[in-house]
Amino acid sequence: MEEQSKYILDFTLLQSTDSNSSQAMERDAFGVSLDYLISEGVDIECIATDRHKGIRAELKKPAYHRINHPFDLFHVSKSIKKKLGLKAKKRCNKDLSPWINCISNHLWWSSRTCGGDDVLLQEKWMSVTEHVGNNHRFRNNQMFKRCAHDPISGRDQTDIKWLKPGTTPHRALHEVVHEKSLLKDMSHLTGFKHTGELEVFHNMLLKYAPKRQHFSYLGMRARLQLAALDHNSNVFREQATTKKDPRWTAAFSKRKKDWIARKVFQAKQYGFRQDLMKLVLKRAASGRWVCGQHVLRDAETEVPPNIAPVQLESKEALVQSRISRYANRDV
Ligand SMILES: [Zn+2]
Repeated sequence: MEEQSKYILDFTLLQSTDSNSSQAMERDAFGVSLDYLISEGVDIECIATDRHKGIRAELKKPAYHRINHPFDLFHVSKSIKKKLGLKAKKRCNKDLSPWINCISNHLWWSSRTCGGDDVLLQEKWMSVTEHVGNNHRFRNNQMFKRCAHDPISGRDQTDIKWLKPGTTPHRALHEVVHEKSLLKDMSHLTGFKHTGELEVFHNMLLKYAPKRQHFSYLGMRARLQLAALDHNSNVFREQATTKKDPRWTAAFSKRKKDWIARKVFQAKQYGFRQDLMKLVLKRAASGRWVCGQHVLRDAETEVPPNIAPVQLESKEALVQSRISRYANRDV
């Protein structure tokens, strides 16, 4: 696993019912966090995000010109699967359905094996519309001239439900695969970057901060910090082994609606808890504070009381106006 995936900048906690203001908040928070990291001397080589327009514009600023900006494959493949899924819901496109997972896997494979070359990535990706039609050679391509799989056996030739070019489901697939903005964004997918670790972090975060419970600002901050310590202490665990073999388990995937083989990793380490407790006792012994309450009081929270764009002038006047309005209505 690559070292760069260890550090997670998580902006998904910034959510709003209004998608425009949510996008603006994410962009602002992103800029502020990035400037903070740079001012702290962190050398940022690469930031993988989804295809968020605001973040994309932010990273085009001259101050960030050295930062490489790949797109997260997980998000791109998810959006492709969603588009194909919607098309496959129509009865006329139902033959597209069995191909959707293969097409998503093909995108991952294309990115992983393109060696950083965007032409090769595009050709590999677009070849999927030929492959599903049982054509595995592409004379007009510059680099990717034939499918990488073994020759297809005679039995598979007849058993596989190929999508004939020109049919409605094939046209629907072609539309998604050749979408202009997707092809344009392919240059951001050549580095095979994905935020799988972030998804793992979000799952683990629920242990410290369940979504159904409300926490104060300080409580939430402490829980996020504990989750970050837990994550960073365990992020590079190796696959567990028996005496000679790697360990696997069978799990049912709700997303894939089928059984999958899952790696069993080495047990998690919680040494950070002991380290934390030692630091707490050391601080207590130093006499710099007496109890936890003291630390909490000292914290600079600066949490605004609300997010209303207009200031409340007088609660009393508001109540009076409401009472008189209703009184008039009763008359
Ligand atoms: Zn093929």
